Amino acid sequence: MMAREPHRVVVIGGGFGGLNATRSLAPADVDVTVVDRTNHHLFQPLLYQVAAGILPPGLIAPSLRSVIKKQRNARALLADVSDIDLEQRRVHAVGPDDRPLDLPYDTLVVAGGATHAYFGHDEWAEYAPGMKTIEDARHLRSHILTAFEMAELATDPKERAEWLTFVIIGAGPTGVELVGQVAELAHLVLPKEYRSVDTTEARILLVEGAGAVLGPFDPKLQRYTQHRLEKMGVEIRLNALAVGMDDESITIKGGGPDPAATETIRTRTRIWAAGVQASPLAAMLAARTGAETDRAGRVLVNPDCTLPGHPEVFAIGDMVSLNKLPGVAQPAIQEGRYVGKVITSRLAGDGQPRPFEYADKGSMATVGHRHAVADAFGMKVTGWIGYTMWGAVHVLYLIGWGNRLGTIYTWARGLTFSRNRGHRLITFEQANSEATGPVAPRSAPPAAGVAPPVQEQPPA
Ligand SMILES: Cc1cc2nc3c(=O)[nH]c(=O)nc-3n(C[C@H](O)[C@H](O)[C@H](O)COP(=O)(O)OP(=O)(O)OC[C@H]3O[C@@H](n4cnc5c(N)ncnc54)[C@H](O)[C@@H]3O)c2cc1C
Repeated sequence: MMAREPHRVVVIGGGFGGLNATRSLAPADVDVTVVDRTNHHLFQPLLYQVAAGILPPGLIAPSLRSVIKKQRNARALLADVSDIDLEQRRVHAVGPDDRPLDLPYDTLVVAGGATHAYFGHDEWAEYAPGMKTIEDARHLRSHILTAFEMAELATDPKERAEWLTFVIIGAGPTGVELVGQVAELAHLVLPKEYRSVDTTEARILLVEGAGAVLGPFDPKLQRYTQHRLEKMGVEIRLNALAVGMDDESITIKGGGPDPAATETIRTRTRIWAAGVQASPLAAMLAARTGAETDRAGRVLVNPDCTLPGHPEVFAIGDMVSLNKLPGVAQPAIQEGRYVGKVITSRLAGDGQPRPFEYADKGSMATVGHRHAVADAFGMKVTGWIGYTMWGAVHVLYLIGWGNRLGTIYTWARGLTFSRNRGHRLITFEQANSEATGPVAPRSAPPAAGVAPPVQEQPPA
């Protein structure tokens, strides 16, 4: 008698959604292939700590192979998915040397995440890099540290001021967490280390199109965050839009008494934390299935995360729109686990489980290294208590005990000895490329033809 071929599941993306779908298929009689264009599972919520020199990248980005090594029915492939043939049920990808890969599937899970959106100004990606990948975070770290090194070398006060001016665009959680770190570097970590320059003279701006920082949070937490950032020396411009930028400046509109007034600020560092757009895979799936996309290019899925007319294709996480859920980690994690259960029960002949239901676990953000705001477990807390809650939750969700213990150790060491910044290596070559080259994007800008982005600040 011929042995029955196991059911083939291809998972595109080894992020929060894809990895949780893969892991929840561990007990099932399936062959799972996870395809990702990186070889690691990235814990994006702690990326800013890599950019700030607090954590080394390895602690928040374990290799996918190591994460699934004990799951005998799963394998990982490093490849870039270029096309999905829904009729032939095949995923087309290319390997690192451009070799074509053809991956047949019985069930497909697409979890390609999201990328930056520049409100129709893709050219800004060159001047204001964002942070989505490990490369992005390492690049930002090099750029920020190079700016301080250049300020130390500069003899012209105007040039020095430009190197010491940092503008972060977007005051959502990522912008707030990043700006807090830049302020701590300038005011707490670096002052005693520099001889010619007073790093506390740094001008650090947070530009936000809406009327408050941390848009989705409770007003009490927003007020706390604004007050705390201002105390740390951050200049906050609310109701202000980026309307232009180049290598040495940014122009913003509004943010003062006259909403139509524009101001050009000389700066060598602009960081983009303002807009998000779904992976181009969402637009591809929408075009091929007739599904709709929303303003952020996210594909609208059925209540069980499948695509219209294709019960064998699931899409989850940041690239989908379902029940108006935000593009954060918990929906992706929970959808991934749910999809694993649906596939398992279908194969067991148990019928279709109930539609996906989301359990809201709250939201949190740090404001500098020892303060945070948290709206979770029915409480709204701030300060050190918020920070402890934030730390516990983030450590819990990291993958692997080694990484959890390593992170706790690194934080404890930083809090005790090195003011939180043990990972500040740059070389002459890196600094040279930051100081003289364009501020090139490290993540791909949105693909042409994809729907316009969700805007955390309104368009200019
Ligand atoms: C800087 C930052 C901070 C954040 N902070 C928080 C936070 O504090 N709390 C929170 O809840 N959420 C936070 N988020 C959001 C959260 O990380 C995302 O919502 C979550 O990662 C979404 O999971 P996902 O599986 O949909 O996508 P991702 O985790 O982004 O995974 C997508 C994967 O798909 C792969 N991929 C994409 N296209 C292809 C392709 N063509 N071929 C092969 N592989 C591909 C990518 O390499 C990636 O590994 C943050 C995000 C960022 C960027």
